[in-house]
Amino acid sequence: MSGEAVRTVTRCRVCGSAEEWQPVISFGEVPLANSFQPTAEPHAEETYPLEVVSCRACRLLSLTVVVDPELLYRTYPYVTSDSETMTRHMQEVVRLCDERSSLAEGDLVVELGSNTGQQLMAFRDAGARVLGVDPALNLAQIAESRGVPTVPEFFDATTAEDIAARHGKASVILGRHVFAHVDDLAELLAGARRLLADDGLFTIEVPYAVDLLDGLAFDTIYHEHLSYFLVSTLDTLFARHGLRTVDVARLSVHGGSILVSAGRAESRWPTHERVRELIAHERDAGYLADEAYERFAARIRETCAGLTALVRGLVSEGRRVACYGASAKGTTLLNVCGLGPAELEFCTDTTPQKQGLFTPGSHLPVLAPDDVRRQPDYYLLLAWNYAEEIMRRESAFLEAGGGFIVPVPEPKVYTEPVIAR
Ligand SMILES: [Zn+2]
Repeated sequence: MSGEAVRTVTRCRVCGSAEEWQPVISFGEVPLANSFQPTAEPHAEETYPLEVVSCRACRLLSLTVVVDPELLYRTYPYVTSDSETMTRHMQEVVRLCDERSSLAEGDLVVELGSNTGQQLMAFRDAGARVLGVDPALNLAQIAESRGVPTVPEFFDATTAEDIAARHGKASVILGRHVFAHVDDLAELLAGARRLLADDGLFTIEVPYAVDLLDGLAFDTIYHEHLSYFLVSTLDTLFARHGLRTVDVARLSVHGGSILVSAGRAESRWPTHERVRELIAHERDAGYLADEAYERFAARIRETCAGLTALVRGLVSEGRRVACYGASAKGTTLLNVCGLGPAELEFCTDTTPQKQGLFTPGSHLPVLAPDDVRRQPDYYLLLAWNYAEEIMRRESAFLEAGGGFIVPVPEPKVYTEPVIAR
């Protein structure tokens, strides 16, 4: 690993405490989740420590190192999925934001990490004025071409002031799965306060730490995801920056997420009962205690061992196994469980930018689904968050005798398009 590309975390980015870290799990040195390789030949690949710690003071789950965002995000291969699941979810986000903020025609909605502008198009269709902010130049260009104006920068206090001067204050500042990627939350929240209208709502969607622990979605841990939040942790964070949690909803996307809104501390919005209930649940169900995190680590080791045994067992019986969906979390799963070309033949993915390349660390060739000449007996489903939709779409493969291996919470083989999670 290269020293200047990483920063070691010392102080908690939520509560500022420096000495209260509980070590949770170390996955060793892992390549970046989206660093697809041009060749399968053995070669030196940059790897970085992937380790999780929990702050005993505020229960932020954090990685121990931060990889330079310039390295991660200036060209970014992740394109927001246009699957049915995601399209429906984006409509739901519009509905919830509208319900919480009482949006009027022409109100400004700013999205941080707006990707190709798909979520903002849904807001625009609902009558809002929209503006995206995304440092990935390749994605900002796509968004612009779809009529979604996009500022190609990282969001900070300066960008926020600039936007407020040009476009006015925002009724909604939305960050979907971007907040967990940000190291300097104080800077981001300072920016949000400058751009937010007096009664505007800062709304973020993050993976819910409760779902991460319960659903054992440990493969969603990779270098881009610096933080994993409880509602109580976010509540602490907002309070430190002059904001107050107003509402929360639990959503099923990405293995279980929460959409949390915060207003200025002095705004007219009351704090919804749902917020207090979830905070009480987190305390009463033990998520503020070390044991929850010790159990999480033990269950991860068990699942990994189980998955490796299952796949190697199938291969030793002469079955052919490949991967479905070259997702970022697949990089964690394959590298942490030590699965690669010895067990797995290839990985399919519909993203053109990934096809023809090789998966990070494990070096499986990424094929377009149409380029698969002979279907394997089993697909290890790396994009398990779309399991239902994928199995419905691939019913012919299942009817022909194929199976899907869903890796978490414990490895399970599906030979019919039903999934009980
Ligand atoms: Zn903390």
